[in-house]
Amino acid sequence: MERRSFEYIVIGCGGIGSAALYWLSKRVGAGVLGIEQFEIGHSNGGSQDHSRIIRTAYHDEMYTKIVADTYTAFEEAEKESGVKLVHKCGGLLIAKKGETDDVATKYANAMASQDLPFEWLPGNKLKEKFPQFEHTENHVAVYEKDGGLVDAAMANAVHIQLAKGNGAAVIEHCPVNRLTKQTNGQTTVHTTKGNFTCKKVIVTAGAWLNQVLGSIGVHIPVYVTQEQVTYLGTPHVKDFVKEKFPIFIYHSKDHDMYALPLHGNTGFKIGIDAGGPVVTAGTRNFTPDPVREKKCLDFIQKILPKALGPILYTKTCLYTMTPDRNFVIDTCHRQGHENVIICNGAGHAFKWSALLGKILSEMAIDGRTQYDIAAFTMDRDAISNPNYKTTIFEGGSLSGGKDHANDSKSKL
Ligand SMILES: Cc1cc2nc3c(=O)[nH]c(=O)nc-3n(C[C@H](O)[C@H](O)[C@H](O)COP(=O)(O)OP(=O)(O)OC[C@H]3O[C@@H](n4cnc5c(N)ncnc54)[C@H](O)[C@@H]3O)c2cc1C
Repeated sequence: MERRSFEYIVIGCGGIGSAALYWLSKRVGAGVLGIEQFEIGHSNGGSQDHSRIIRTAYHDEMYTKIVADTYTAFEEAEKESGVKLVHKCGGLLIAKKGETDDVATKYANAMASQDLPFEWLPGNKLKEKFPQFEHTENHVAVYEKDGGLVDAAMANAVHIQLAKGNGAAVIEHCPVNRLTKQTNGQTTVHTTKGNFTCKKVIVTAGAWLNQVLGSIGVHIPVYVTQEQVTYLGTPHVKDFVKEKFPIFIYHSKDHDMYALPLHGNTGFKIGIDAGGPVVTAGTRNFTPDPVREKKCLDFIQKILPKALGPILYTKTCLYTMTPDRNFVIDTCHRQGHENVIICNGAGHAFKWSALLGKILSEMAIDGRTQYDIAAFTMDRDAISNPNYKTTIFEGGSLSGGKDHANDSKSKL
């Protein structure tokens, strides 16, 4: 590439980075460059699959007050591209009475506070609405009509293509090695394909975040876990297509399970939230864990037996989570790098990627965002206090690793 100087550079073109590129390109056209260490659409990070859950149901107002905006942000890319990205098949949060019903109550309260519509489905009301379920009498569910799935691979591709259409440049197979600050305040991005300079840099490097930030003395305490999703070839296809069946998250005393209806060229999808071992981007492997596969099958056998079928395949993927599982969206001004903007999606951000992209573009261009992201700064206890006790599953409890504090609320 001949050009070496840009207004803005995005490091990492996964779900969040590709959306940031898109939103920046809408305002500055060719003034933005996206740099990706692998090829666009690779499967080494956290964003590439047929589907990801999207929902308005969240357990805290810090999310419910901005969640409608992520739907709007996806709609903009849908309108511009003519490609449908969000499929509102409905969403369920299911809890067990006497065990996790407090979780369902939290969701209902946080949604009610923002006038987000939902239905409360105690016991057999769940089975009345979705007869595919069995044994719902001891459960309670929150149903939201706006829940559903995002076509993740498609959303990434659309964001990148729209950005390129607006004039943005994208370089693939170009690892960023380090950042340096110039005396004029600009940042130099050192890569294997030479150096680039810019006014502001956005770091959306997922599991590699600290490798990029280390060069400017910034460290975010994140846990990377090796997660997996399993696709089942159900013989009852028509009961589990997205026109008939919602996404759901099932909160149990130990790990939370989630499932998505058929979408794309594959089967019924099931996974365990934060159930995998702690790894690094360098040590992870791509081998499915049979212990977790079996746990998924046993769970489906109990609650949704008609969905059961042969395993089509299991795909591994990385979560990169902060100790409180909340996002980091901030500049590195406390470390003297106000022109470096960072974002970590804490292992539940695909649904947010469109909005996060917009927020990051506003922070870069305007120096501030119109959205309330006050809860996601780096100076909060979970990020700045080294003794903060993690509230996530630190992975591995199902597959032989460490098992830590587990008052997690699934945030998929
Ligand atoms: C199995 C699984 C299921 C999930 N389900 C859901 C769900 O249902 N709903 C939901 O909302 N979220 C879900 N998530 C979480 C969500 O997918 C992630 O939070 C989100 O996709 C992370 O996006 P990202 O852009 O931060 O990371 P990534 O997609 O990993 O992107 C980071 C990019 O940065 C690049 N990069 C890193 N370092 C460099 C460098 N030095 N130079 C150049 N490029 C670099 C990487 O190659 C990568 O492409 C799930 C995640 C997993 C793993």
